[in-house]
Amino acid sequence: MTSVVDKTALREKLEQEHAELLLHIGRMEQITEELRSNRGGGDGGISNHMAEGASSTFDQERNLALLENLQRTWEQVESALKRMDDGTYGLCRACGQPIDRARLQALPYAALCLDCQSRLEER
Ligand SMILES: [Zn+2]
Repeated sequence: MTSVVDKTALREKLEQEHAELLLHIGRMEQITEELRSNRGGGDGGISNHMAEGASSTFDQERNLALLENLQRTWEQVESALKRMDDGTYGLCRACGQPIDRARLQALPYAALCLDCQSRLEER
């Protein structure tokens, strides 16, 4: 029993993160949408808005990158919750070995053990 991860606490963590990410994603989508419609030049349309336009293009790209990041994390959290349901949570998806407990505590949605993860990052 000593090696068993405290799944209840981790599930709570994951569910909290899941909800927070959804909030963030919703907010980011709204901001991205606003930036997009501003760029369409609805209000004013005077040419000294040029600089502003450029910076909002930058903001839009940065927001999209952030949004993608959030969505990717959210998918990982979601799939970790699914793995909890089907009983494969805590096992490396690549090699099937149990993922280090400390790693799960630091990164509850980790799907790969440290070895497989670093092998993946080396490529
Ligand atoms: Zn592995």
